[in-house]
Amino acid sequence: MATMTRTPQKFFNAREKELTSQRDELRMRIDRHHLDVVIDRELDDEAAAAVENISRDMLAATLERERRTLREIESALVRIKKGEYGTCNSCGDPIARARLDALPWARLCIHCAERAHNPNSFRIAS
Ligand SMILES: [Zn+2]
Repeated sequence: MATMTRTPQKFFNAREKELTSQRDELRMRIDRHHLDVVIDRELDDEAAAAVENISRDMLAATLERERRTLREIESALVRIKKGEYGTCNSCGDPIARARLDALPWARLCIHCAERAHNPNSFRIAS
């Protein structure tokens, strides 16, 4: 087991700043998409309405994905405040920096994430 070097505070500060601006940007995008979904209901042509429905479905799916990401970002920000950021929610081990860089709101270390995706191996392992 490699010794984990203590994560410098400035890493958390930088991450907090990053996530905050991502959150704000995402909020604006969600607001805009939300308006797009709500407005434009003036279609009488059926074909146009069908196309409209498809793009509305896609937009709704995008909106849903963005909302989920927003929730993840917000909870990551809370964890930074509490000093829990970068610690696995499940086993309490530090989450590898490379993983945090790839997925800044990761709440599980790679091992726990893999087990979460494959519950059978979890059962055997535990
Ligand atoms: Zn873990």
